[in-house]
Amino acid sequence: MSTTTRREFLRAGAVSLATVPLSALAKNPAPTAQPLRIVAVGAHPDDPESGCGGTLKKFSAAGHNVTVLYLTRGEAGIAGQTAAQAAATRTAEAESACGLLGAHARFFGQIDGVTVFDQAAVARMTQALTDLQPDLVLAHWPIDSHPDHQVAATLVIQARLRAAPPFELFFFEVCAGQQTMTFRPTDYVDITDMQEVKRAAVFCHASQNPAEIYAEGGHTLMEQFRGAECGVRAAEAFVRFTARGTTGLV
Ligand SMILES: [Zn+2]
Repeated sequence: MSTTTRREFLRAGAVSLATVPLSALAKNPAPTAQPLRIVAVGAHPDDPESGCGGTLKKFSAAGHNVTVLYLTRGEAGIAGQTAAQAAATRTAEAESACGLLGAHARFFGQIDGVTVFDQAAVARMTQALTDLQPDLVLAHWPIDSHPDHQVAATLVIQARLRAAPPFELFFFEVCAGQQTMTFRPTDYVDITDMQEVKRAAVFCHASQNPAEIYAEGGHTLMEQFRGAECGVRAAEAFVRFTARGTTGLV
């Protein structure tokens, strides 16, 4: 089945992504037609794992095709190391984490701490996502204290406005209240069964003090809180992008 036909089938058939929210899709993630192509976009190694690692594993385990696209390689993220050294360490950590999550790791090529939002970057992100042909994209929520997270989010939003046919877009949260702000979920994914592998994926990022960012920090509490909101032990939460919009260039 050609890609266009496959996506038309998904949209017209029983698994209509235009009408099925992520929360419902995740409850019965086994492919009913062709496997979905799912892409998570994060600014740094460890962001997609923290924000939606359980969801990614849930879909990869069900047979879907999952890719993680990192905007940077975390060049600024290890004190005392050069950008090249940190990038090498964190690339290896990201690839290990993606291995656990059943995902393919891809790197967009921007630099940690000095990410850029401009028309050239929009064009590159649009091309990158066009090449990956996603049915579903998960990305940072744009209201975030970290500028790199904001850049990743807004590049994906602009790519979404240019995509033909459009992909479904959901935003994830990281370090809620400290980084992600004003986030009001529309969708929840029960990750109770995936909590351990998600934790292991986050802990692949040994250079980032995972015990602090995950176990002691906000992410364990986030999973418990979002789980309480939807009646399960642990959940990841998302906001669905529903706007049609234009490219804003007229
Ligand atoms: Zn980050």
